[in-house]
Amino acid sequence: MSWRIEHSDALSLLRELPDSWAQMCVTSPPTGALSTTLAALGEVRRVLREDGTLWLLVGRGGPSLNALDEQGWTHQPLPPWSTRLVRGWCPPVRLLLLTKQRRYFYDDLALDYRVTQRLSWPTSPRQASRPQGCGFVRERERRLQLVRRCILAGSSMLACGVCGAPYRRARPGEREGVMRRPTCSHKNPEGRCLVLDPFCGPGAATTEAAHCSGRSFLGIAPTRGIGGER
Ligand SMILES: [Zn+2]
Repeated sequence: MSWRIEHSDALSLLRELPDSWAQMCVTSPPTGALSTTLAALGEVRRVLREDGTLWLLVGRGGPSLNALDEQGWTHQPLPPWSTRLVRGWCPPVRLLLLTKQRRYFYDDLALDYRVTQRLSWPTSPRQASRPQGCGFVRERERRLQLVRRCILAGSSMLACGVCGAPYRRARPGEREGVMRRPTCSHKNPEGRCLVLDPFCGPGAATTEAAHCSGRSFLGIAPTRGIGGER
């Protein structure tokens, strides 16, 4: 899998990315510069696969629901684990789940306790809502847990090596590494789902969360670029 952080203006770099390329985007857009943010989200829509998801963590002054509707995004109901995890943030945030189509890829077993118990991350809702530590560490931990869950639910460990389509679990309760049912007609499980964060600023948890989840990752950051391959 590969991951990289590009130092670039989000909108310019997004415009260079191919259509229907990323499986999911999880991001927290900066406040202010609303028109640029919206233009970037329009590009994200083009870059996402048809069954892809955008998990948007917005604070006050973020893009309005109307503006997102006008771009053609479909609002989806949030999973219960997410509402618990964004409660009580300072400053307040809300999470939006937006898709290109009514039907989208969502792995509802990814956060099943039987599936996630081998992860080192606390996954029960009770643990997740009460991380330990000081204020800063707690915020950071919450953000990581939230982003990590979005990535697990919105993408798969395996993906088609030809078209990038995610794989579904063959059986309920199976661990993540053994997802074996393609959602496309190719028989090439050599690919990896790609996670995108076009606003990967300092403190963004997406890099770490994508890395821990074994997904490919592209972050666009307004700082010096780093990258790697493993
Ligand atoms: Zn395929």
